Amino acid sequence: MIGSFAPISPGAVVGVLGSGQLGRMFAIAARQMGYRVHTFSPETDTPTGQVADVEITGAYHDLDAIREFARNVHVLTFEFENVPARTVEAAAHFAPVRPSGSVLHITQHRLREKTFLKGNGFPVAPFSPVSSLDELRSAVEQIGCPAILKTAVSGYDGKGQARVTKPGDAEAAFAATGSQEKILEAFIDFELEFSIVAARGLDGTFSHWGLIENTHRNHILDLSFAPANVPEATSVQAVGIAKDLLETLDVIGVLCIEFFLSRDQKIFINELAPRPHNSGHLTINAALTSQFEQQLRAVCGLPLGATDFLSAAAMANLLGDLWQDGEPNWAAAAGYPDVKLHLYGKDQVRPGRKMGHLTALAPSADAAVERVLHARKRLGPK
Ligand code: AMP
Repeated sequence: MIGSFAPISPGAVVGVLGSGQLGRMFAIAARQMGYRVHTFSPETDTPTGQVADVEITGAYHDLDAIREFARNVHVLTFEFENVPARTVEAAAHFAPVRPSGSVLHITQHRLREKTFLKGNGFPVAPFSPVSSLDELRSAVEQIGCPAILKTAVSGYDGKGQARVTKPGDAEAAFAATGSQEKILEAFIDFELEFSIVAARGLDGTFSHWGLIENTHRNHILDLSFAPANVPEATSVQAVGIAKDLLETLDVIGVLCIEFFLSRDQKIFINELAPRPHNSGHLTINAALTSQFEQQLRAVCGLPLGATDFLSAAAMANLLGDLWQDGEPNWAAAAGYPDVKLHLYGKDQVRPGRKMGHLTALAPSADAAVERVLHARKRLGPK
C-alpha cells in the first residue's frame, strides 16, 4: 500500500468503485485538481467512464479483477454502497479504501444501520427486524400502524417498500417485498425532510453545508433547496448529530444523513449514504467547495475546503419521464442564465431514471425554487 497516511497529491490515481453520475461528478472535480481517475463497474461507456482516464469493466465479485484494479490506484472510494464487503477487503490490501469497509458494511444494510444508530443513541423511528410473516404480525402489534416495511438491502428511491396502514395489510406487504430480510419502521408523520451532507478529513476535521430541504415525488428526490426552512435550534441539533455520527463511524470522506422533522418538531434519522448525495448536487454551483471536491480532499488526506454558500440555491432532478415526447428543449432551459444544466451522459432513457439536474442560484431559497421549477417546466412534459 502506498503511503496511506501521507496526503495523496495531484497527479495520483483515485479509483472509484461504481460508475454512475456520482462518480462522474467526482471525476470532474478530481480531474479539475489534476488527479487521474480509474473507475470499475460491470458496465461500459458509463457516466463516470466517459470522464475518467480509465474505465475498467468487471464484476464486483471478480476478486482478481478488483485486486488488479486496486494495484493501479493510490486510494479507493466508491460512489454507491452496494459493493460487496469481500470486494472492499480484497481491494484494501493494495490501496486505502475511504470511507472504510466497516462504514460500508453498516450503511449497506438497513437493519444493521438502524441497529447501529439506535445502539449509539442516535434518534431513529421505532423499528423491528422481520424475517417471516409471523414476525411481521408481532412487529405490527408492537410498533403500531401506520408503519413501513422495507427490505434490508438493495432498496433505494422507495423500491422494496410497502405501507402497513392497518394490521390486515401485513400479508400483502410481506408478499410485496419478496422473501429477503426486512425491517418494519414506524411511520413518521413528518412536516418536512432534510439532509445534511457532511465530510470528515483524515485529520478528523468536520465540515458540512448546513441543512438542505428535500421533497420527493413517487419516493424519488424531486427538489432540494438550501438553506432549509427549519428553526435554528433544530439546525444546531441536527449538525451536532451529524458531527457525532461521522466521528462514531470514523468516516473519512463524505456521508449524507437523511432526516425527518416530525410535526411535533422532533428529528429522526431516516438513512445514511456513505458518499455524496443527490441532495448535495446544488453545492457544485452554490458553494465554495462542492461535495465532490470535498470527497476528493478527504479521501486524499488534503485539508477540507470551505463550504460557504455563494447564495441560496435549489436543485431539480431531471428524470427520464421528461423525454416522453422526445428530446427536452435544452435551449429553453439555457435561456435562464442563472440556472445551470447538468446531464449525466446516459443514453438509455427510462421513466424514473436520473438523467441530470438543474441548479438555480437566487437571493432566497424560495426564489431559487421558483426559478429552477420554471426552467424545468420549459424543458418539456413531466
Ligand atoms: P427511503 O428509501 O428509506 O429513503 O424512503 C424513501 C422515502 O419514503 C423517504 O424519503 C420518505 O419520504 C418516505 N419514508 C421512508 N420511511 C419513512 C418513515 N419511517 N416514515 C415516513 N415516511 C417514510
